[in-house]
Amino acid sequence: MTERLCLVHYHEIGLKGKNRSTFENQLVTNLQRALKAYPVREVHRISGYLVVEAKDGQATDELRDAIRRVPGVARVSVAYKCGLDEGEYIEAAKRALAEAGDFQTFKVHARRSSTTYERHTLEMNQLVGAALCEAFPAKKVDVHTPDVTVIVHVVQGMTFVYADSVPGVGGLPVGTAGKVVTLLSSGIDSPVATWMVGRRGATCVPVHFSGRPMTSDTSEWLCQDIVDTLAPAGMVGRLYVVPFGERQREISLCVPQSLRIIMYRRVMYQVAARVAQIEGAKALVTGESLGQVASQTLDNIAAVNEAVTIPILRPLIGSDKLEIIHRAEEIGTYDISTQTAPDCCTLFMPRRPETHARMREVLAAWDSFDHEAMVDDLVAHIEYRDFHQCPSYHAPKQLRAFHAELAPAEFADAGGEQ
Ligand code: ATP
Ligand code: MG
Repeated sequence: MTERLCLVHYHEIGLKGKNRSTFENQLVTNLQRALKAYPVREVHRISGYLVVEAKDGQATDELRDAIRRVPGVARVSVAYKCGLDEGEYIEAAKRALAEAGDFQTFKVHARRSSTTYERHTLEMNQLVGAALCEAFPAKKVDVHTPDVTVIVHVVQGMTFVYADSVPGVGGLPVGTAGKVVTLLSSGIDSPVATWMVGRRGATCVPVHFSGRPMTSDTSEWLCQDIVDTLAPAGMVGRLYVVPFGERQREISLCVPQSLRIIMYRRVMYQVAARVAQIEGAKALVTGESLGQVASQTLDNIAAVNEAVTIPILRPLIGSDKLEIIHRAEEIGTYDISTQTAPDCCTLFMPRRPETHARMREVLAAWDSFDHEAMVDDLVAHIEYRDFHQCPSYHAPKQLRAFHAELAPAEFADAGGEQ
């Protein structure tokens, strides 16, 4: 039986000039990891594609669908792999067209990456086209806007034949854009924000603030489920969890009620910035969207931003809630995010949160508690869980040493390093 394999198309990577091979190699590595559960013989590069070969030589639609979810993949085709014998590739073209679903018109597009093959592409088009017209008498050729295009591509002593391709998630391979720390709640927005920067090639290190011990740890489990759901995209290697309930209670007792959320957020951002320092990450990422809730006005964003110097990326800032929900459904996190879980943000909420915080008042409230000691303490008690789905994630070697440096007094109690 003619072998079937998956051809992976990537366009943006092609734009990266000298970096091209770095990007391609990263995509090969990421695909190998993402497809671990599938019987894959090999993932390799060939003439502008990546090729994924199944162990039994029969790539399936399930394999194709797993490939589509990996950032950097623009399109995937399940192709027949033939030799240079024209009878063989004509037969494959007939099968490919027969599997193309509903269509009225088609054309053949022959390509040749190997110049040693004697037939010209025009000749190949005519040859294969004539055979298809004979096999499909009810269908018409349309060379301008065909419903289906049958590709016959001669590459390094082989011919790939396919008629169909499905879109991938696009973007760039994870691991080609550096590391970011994402603030991950178990809500709808931040998993989408994490996925979006991951799709642009960033290795994501989420930090979740839990209400523990004042709440249950449900939100932590939901965050783990979210990371597991993002596994096929290979973006996350480690999830940090910060038990924040006790400290929130302290803050709620000493700052004006209307400024509580801003104070919680400033502490969260500072802890996340410390994690970024430990991890060598270059930016924080949040799921904020302008004006979506009271805490997301420009004044409040500025009041929180002021607490850190590291850049903060907000990939959803201009998105509407419905767009975000749609994306959450696509990436599979929506059903997890809509389960109710008390997290730190539902704890000690003010009745009337400030919507236009004034910086002078924010700074006065900020100085009314020992925020430095609090951040040190939270960093010293941070917990984490590793996931083995992200080849580009490299854990910091000296988390314990960093703990010691950042929060000396608490070092003895610090969470373990592997
Ligand atoms: P989300 O659905 O992501 O929780 P939201 O619309 O509920 O967003 P907020 O609760 O105002 O918005 O949170 C704004 C952003 O702050 C979140 O998108 C997330 O990046 C961060 N954040 C909020 N709560 C937490 C948390 N418990 N742990 C970590 N980050 C958080
Ligand atoms: Mg939230």
